[in-house]
This record gives sequence, structure tokens and C-alpha cells, in this order.
Amino acid sequence: LKENNARHFWHPMTSPEDSTTTPPKIITGAQGVSIQDIDGNEVVDAVGGLWNVNLGYSCQPVKDAIAAQLEQLPYYSTFRGTSNDAAIELSYELADFFAPDGLSRAFFTSGGSDSVETALRLARQYHKLRGESGRVKFLSLKKGYHGTHIGGASVNGNANFRNAYEPLLPGCHHIPAPYTYRNPFNETDPETLANLCIAALEDEINFQGANTIAAMIMEPILGAGGVIVPHESFAPQVAEICERNGILLITDEVITAYGRTGAWSGARLWGIKPDMMCTAKAITNGFFPFGVVMMGDKMIEAFENNPAAKIGHGYTYSGHPVGAAAALACLKETKRLNVIENAAARGTQMYDGCLALMDKHEIVGDVRGGKGLMTAIELVSDRATKKPIDGASAALIQETAYNAGAMVRVSGPNIIMSPPLVVTDADVNTILSALDAGLSTVKG
Ligand code: PMP
Repeated sequence: LKENNARHFWHPMTSPEDSTTTPPKIITGAQGVSIQDIDGNEVVDAVGGLWNVNLGYSCQPVKDAIAAQLEQLPYYSTFRGTSNDAAIELSYELADFFAPDGLSRAFFTSGGSDSVETALRLARQYHKLRGESGRVKFLSLKKGYHGTHIGGASVNGNANFRNAYEPLLPGCHHIPAPYTYRNPFNETDPETLANLCIAALEDEINFQGANTIAAMIMEPILGAGGVIVPHESFAPQVAEICERNGILLITDEVITAYGRTGAWSGARLWGIKPDMMCTAKAITNGFFPFGVVMMGDKMIEAFENNPAAKIGHGYTYSGHPVGAAAALACLKETKRLNVIENAAARGTQMYDGCLALMDKHEIVGDVRGGKGLMTAIELVSDRATKKPIDGASAALIQETAYNAGAMVRVSGPNIIMSPPLVVTDADVNTILSALDAGLSTVKG
């Protein structure tokens, strides 16, 4: 297996040196919040699959729902003329209690990148339908991650995910993110920094001309960019500016939705009402590729009962009945198990534990999180200069932590923890002590 993996399996998001320094672990099983590998190790999965296994791996009701749906109706398209009961029921549930008021229509997709692409495309169409066809540009935050399609890559705030794929969409502009540890203003106070980023957003809009901009897309808490939690004043100000300038606001909640932040969604966490809300990942607990964009009243008005509004967009698997059945079961379990409350409490434990590790280890330059189970530590080889740690040291920390009982995820200079929302106090302590062991292997 290991040999064939090396020879034939082209892994996503990887580089040639990864497989020589740390060959992929072949995961053979998973129960509860733990995973097992082919060499017989069992560790707590502090990555939660890929931010998405909120309910853990056992979650029998979701497996049962999938099995039952496979028997009843394994697949049918939802393109014009056909629908299915699972997707209808899911659209109702999402509108009824998940999405902010007014986001009452669900456009189903097959994953996060598809959800982002859907929002970007329909944003342009929205303006065309309203006779504002000059509104084609997109704004987003530096450090933001928005998936891998050409549209998503164009609004991606990290040039490392863009450069190899240029030329991308013209007219995508990236605004400084409210990232206190590193920012062009050298500002460390979260509220002052939020205001500076807001001023930069207003400047960009004035420079580009509001009537050329279709939408702004942002993650309520930036995930892959290293868990950047804006000051609470930031998102409401962005929402107000977009509203005032006729710019649609898209929240990319592929990570933040369904409880990870300790709230049902990032929009609810910050008290904002986006025009479109992209979700995927935890909607099916990782058990089926599925996504949805919740559409707000502006979108609904522009598209509904409008003979010109032909939607030339959608996926073979949009509204897949098995994905929809899985998602319905996940919503039920999320409520029944009170996982959102647990995410908030365990998130605080994880954040406080990482702050304690910062006191102990010189190489921890910054700790970010505190809102649910999204936590990152940023590693530096020197605290004074904030020089990022080298890749080999980060990989060694990850490997040592794994051998000490927890799978954590290295992403650039960050170690990210996003375990299932059902972790216990003891699981979080296992993750923290494994991290402690990892960090002890590298000196600043
Ligand atoms: N948006 C965000 C915020 C994400 O974190 C991700 C994936 N990590 C995506 C979009 C893309 O999702 P997918 O990998 O399911 O296409």
C-alpha cells in the first residue's frame, strides 16, 4: 500500500518534499474522536478530518440516515423538473432555524469550492438582472481562503494559492485582514486594527468605484489562513459598508457553520445578515460531499418571478438525496447532543491551554482562537523578529505530537487544532500534552 501510494496516488495540497520527509499516514479506521493508522497507532484527531467531522466518526444516526436513503432513493438530479423529499426537507430546516432570518432559499452544491463559485457567479448575475452589468469585481480579505476553483482562487487572500494558476479573474482586490500579529499598520490592538482595515476597505471601494464591485466575500473567522478572529466590531462594519455601497456580502462559512465557532454560524456569532452564505464541510459531518449556499431576500427578489433570470449554474450532485439525508441527520444530532455549547466550552479550554504552552515554549509566537474549536498557534524561530519557523521543524513538531497521541495540522507556520465538537475535557488535555511534547523538540 505504501509503495502504491507513493507511485500512483497524486495527493492534493502537497509538495514533492512532503512525501520524502513525512510519507502520508495511511488511515485505516476511525471511531469517536480517534483515528487509527496502518501501523497500529491510535490518536485523537485534533484536525477533525479537515475541520468537518463535528460529530465524531461513530455518529450512528448519520450513518443510518445515509443507509436508509441509499435504499429509498440513491440519486436523482434536481435540475429543472425534478426534486426529492430529503432535499426539500433540508431546505426547510436550513431556512427555519439555521440561517439568519431572510436567508430562506437553499442552493445546493457538492462542496465548499462549489458553494463559493455559486455565490460569485450568482452575484454577477444578480447585478446584471438589475441592469448594473458594470458590477463585476470582487473584494476579499488577505489571508482568506475560498477554495480552489478559478473564482475562489482569484479571491483567495494568500498569493501562494494564486500564483501558479494565473491569470485569474481580473478585478479581484484583497483588503488587509484584521490579523494582529502581522499587519501593514503594525497595530496590535484588535479594535484599532479592525478600524484600520475598515478604512482600507472604504479606500479600495472609493478607488475602484462602488458601481464596479459585485460582492465582498469573507470568512467570519479566517480558518486556513491561521484562525484569525476579528474584533467583534469588524464584521458589522463590513456589512454596513457593503449595504451602503450596493455591494453584496457573501460569508464563506465552509468552516464556521454548524457550530464550530460555538454559535450556529459566523453570521450569528457577529450578528450580521449576509446576502449569501456559503457552507459545506460539517453539513454532512464529512460523510458525504455536499454543500449549500443560503440566499437572502435581495437575491430571492432579483431572481424570483423574473423571466430574465435563467440560472445557467448548478451541479449534477446539487441536492443529492443521500447528502441531504445525511445533512438532516447532522442537524438533528447537533441539536440533540448540544455540541455547540460543548464547542464553546472546550474551545476556551483549548485556547487557554495553548496560551499556557506559549509561556513555556519560546517558539510559540502567537496563539489565536477563543471562539469555539478553531485554535492556532503560530511558530517562530525568534520571537523578537517573528521569523517564521522552517518547514522541517514544523513537520517534526507534528510528527512528535502524533507519536504522543494527537493528530494536529501544520499549515505554513501555524499549527491548527479543529477537533470534533464532541471532544471531552480529557481529549483536549490529550491534544495539549501531545502538542507540548511536539513543541519541546524544537528550540527557538
Ligand atoms: N472556503 C473555505 C473557508 C474553506 O476552508 C474551504 C476548504 N478548506 C473551502 C472554501 C473549499 O472547500 P472544499 O475543499 O470543500 O471545496
